[in-house]
Amino acid sequence: MATLLEGKVLARRLNEETAEYARNHQLTLAIIQAGNDPASLAYREFKTRQAHKLGIIFEEYLFDSYVPQAEIESLIDRLNKRPEIIGILLEQPLPGEYDAQALMELIAPEKDIDGVTSANAARLYFNKPGLFPATAEALMSLLDYYDIDPKGKEAVVVGRSNIVGKPAALLLLHRHATVTVCHSRTENLAEVVRRGDIVVAAVGKANLLKKDYFKEGAVILDAGYNLVQGQTTGDVDFKGASTRASAITPVPGGVGSVTTAAVFKNLVKAHGLQYGA
Ligand code: NDP
Repeated sequence: MATLLEGKVLARRLNEETAEYARNHQLTLAIIQAGNDPASLAYREFKTRQAHKLGIIFEEYLFDSYVPQAEIESLIDRLNKRPEIIGILLEQPLPGEYDAQALMELIAPEKDIDGVTSANAARLYFNKPGLFPATAEALMSLLDYYDIDPKGKEAVVVGRSNIVGKPAALLLLHRHATVTVCHSRTENLAEVVRRGDIVVAAVGKANLLKKDYFKEGAVILDAGYNLVQGQTTGDVDFKGASTRASAITPVPGGVGSVTTAAVFKNLVKAHGLQYGA
């Protein structure tokens, strides 16, 4: 029977650590949101509720009707200059009229708690301390919490996005896994995934990875989050795959549950980077 990698349990632990830190240090977070994307609005509201519970102070800058890019640019500039602002989140997706990457690049790297700037991507690439995308950090925290050491293991990451697949692959590489990255042009996906002692699914296609894609004893981390007929489901066919896996994350209640806690852990890390705590 596969071990269930319970994100909720780990999230609780991480949140306790963050709350403890917030009791001793003032953590102020700025959240900028432009537009009305429903999933993004819901996620921002969830984060602010969580921040409140953890004792994190937050400032919200919400633009539900159009403001010029220059206005958001100058807001980011002002937030960068305020020493009490520890982290800045620019909620995605931004409406199409904005140059999202250009705006993200303006965030001071030490306040970039989503790990979206090139400066932090470079730090990740060079294996230097920095702020890295929360989902990728959440995957590593799950491995640590359940004592799964990627060293020497074959890790297969399905998906190569800048926010999940690529950073997850780099973090696994830095932990000495032998890493293969798959994407939409990968041939014989099942054959490649079957090499994985550890498999990370970050695709966005419900139940893409079936039972026979996995080797016996694989550790399966499913970052996928798909809504199918009102139900949340991952990229892995959980029922089938869990008969092959030695350990597997559920969806919901797995990687996604840890991600928000990992955002706030990044805020703690950002405080350390700025104030050397
Ligand atoms: P993207 O759409 O940016 O990337 C998807 C990746 O999957 C791409 O690299 C794409 O390949 C690859 N892909 C698409 N189809 C296939 C296929 N048939 N076979 C193999 N690879 C394929 O998605 P994200 O990385 O942003 O998100 C991935 C999933 O993770 C989504 O379900 C999203 O909701 C979820 N997510 C979960 C988070 C969490 O905290 N749990 C946070 C962020 C995202 P190519 O590059 O060739 O196009």
